[in-house]
Amino acid sequence: MEFATFADRAGTIDAEPADLEIVAHVRDLLADAEGEIDVVARFVQGRVFPAWDSTTLDVGPSACYEAIARAAGRNVSGDDVEERLAEVGEIGDVAASYEFGGQQGLGAFTGGGDAGSGGNGNDLTVREVADTLAELAAADGSGSHDRKVDLLFGLFNRASSEEARYLARLVLSEMRIGVGEGTVRDAIAAAFDVPEDRVERALQVSNDYGQVARIARDEGLAGLDAVDLAVGRPVQAMLAQAGTVTDALEVWDEAAVESKYDGARIQLHHDPAGMDDGDGSTVETRVFSRNMEEVTDALPEVVEFADETLEEPAILDGEVVAIDDDGSPLPFQAVLKRFRRKHDVAKAREDVSVRPVFFDCLHAGGEDLLAEPLTTRHDRLRSVLSAADSDGDDATDGTADADIEGLSLLRLADDPDEIESIDAAALEAGHEGIMLKDPESTYSPGRRGKHWRKRKPDVETIDCVVTGAEWGEGRRATFLGTFELSVRAGDALETVGKVATGITDEKLEALTELLEPHITAEDGQEIDLEPEVVFEVGYEEIQSSPTYSSGYALRFPRFQGVRSDKDPADADSIERLERLHGR
Ligand code: AMP
Repeated sequence: MEFATFADRAGTIDAEPADLEIVAHVRDLLADAEGEIDVVARFVQGRVFPAWDSTTLDVGPSACYEAIARAAGRNVSGDDVEERLAEVGEIGDVAASYEFGGQQGLGAFTGGGDAGSGGNGNDLTVREVADTLAELAAADGSGSHDRKVDLLFGLFNRASSEEARYLARLVLSEMRIGVGEGTVRDAIAAAFDVPEDRVERALQVSNDYGQVARIARDEGLAGLDAVDLAVGRPVQAMLAQAGTVTDALEVWDEAAVESKYDGARIQLHHDPAGMDDGDGSTVETRVFSRNMEEVTDALPEVVEFADETLEEPAILDGEVVAIDDDGSPLPFQAVLKRFRRKHDVAKAREDVSVRPVFFDCLHAGGEDLLAEPLTTRHDRLRSVLSAADSDGDDATDGTADADIEGLSLLRLADDPDEIESIDAAALEAGHEGIMLKDPESTYSPGRRGKHWRKRKPDVETIDCVVTGAEWGEGRRATFLGTFELSVRAGDALETVGKVATGITDEKLEALTELLEPHITAEDGQEIDLEPEVVFEVGYEEIQSSPTYSSGYALRFPRFQGVRSDKDPADADSIERLERLHGR
């Protein structure tokens, strides 16, 4: 397809306000794209490379202005282009405002094709633009700026005004003609008469609109259904919504609960037989970020872990966490010192170590698992990670709480109290909290669905008087472990719940010291306390409940801190509970 045709169609789409009409235009464009359908399907979205490919053009606006200026003629400079941009506001309009063509210079011979013919717009093809942009992306090292400008000049020099408009927008990632991913998906389905959901599945798996469009056209539904994950080609990560334990248990019979690790998302691709590293070398392991950017070189520990542990091809989803010398997790800020680092990785590694923890398995041993339920994928994850752990030793690494190094422990629970204690343990171990997942759910790349929920941090807190407590058990027998909470009701205090969550051993010890002098009665593990100390407590919701004397109960109360600045008289009242409940 000639680039002039593409530009003309892009202009029509740009002028079209109705979404359905846009889909129809893209459908026709794909149907007419012939051998260049893969490029056209990307260009129309403003993409130069497939979504899975983290290659970038790496060309700044100034290089593009320089190329436009050079193609526009001797009297135009990059600064002129920039000035016009400031007036006009959009690079496509600026590029289209010049007359191009016939500028002789080094670049005229480097753009590929018949460089001498000048901007009549009749000879530049979509494929040539794609090939030249790929060459431009590959230019690096000294002299690469000039090389990129030369290549761009070669393209602009052969462009008509309308071609230049869309070329400039493409190069600067400012296509903006209203064509999103959903538009292309629907257009592929309409153009080649295949169901949208099957196109969607193939897109999720391959992350390549060009490839999917071509397969839909040439191989139909059978071809689409045969599109598989490929080890070495990243897929979009499944995402979570905020949610509460109450929401989760309302819709699922039980929840799969695990720690929410405070690190950075990684997708690990491993193949003992080796895979292409994108630069022509063969590697066993590649690591990608949540945005499918390659981060392999920044995380040698993850690569070493995979090379030592994994014995079959696999794609694993997880989190990389920074750890201290004891293996305990460090806050998120620490992992940022390592993630995406390109230089001095060895030095950075001396300062901050990282460990991977995996919570999902997308592919193992040649089999795609996206359509399997979470529990099956997790079982497979366990077997993949235990391949090298035949001695059955417990993991020594504090980042993962399971018995196998690098495996996130997944527990099924239908009892809110059990979930609460998993949450407490996760917080105590230094994690961010918990994730709640639907055990039956399949893996939906790129979706922020309801199947994964990150437990919402408490939005509101209330200040309660501590009126009783219970001694802990086992290792915590010398500490108070559960605290009875009350609110003011006139001159009296009425109970509203008990809190045991969100308190580390260290804090329990301090709280015990604080409260012991106020014990008034003791009966087995239970004690009564003089109302002296005020706790700030977070919660998920306030329910009417006969369990406590206030008539209300806090769902999932969490200890936030001692309000040493407050007396019981300053604690919250039953009227405030009533108001919060009413909301
Ligand atoms: P957020 O970044 O707040 O939207 O929370 C979702 C993120 O939590 C995911 O993208 C992961 O990076 C991270 N995460 C930590 N632990 C888990 C886990 N066990 N399961 C899924 N995601 C997790």
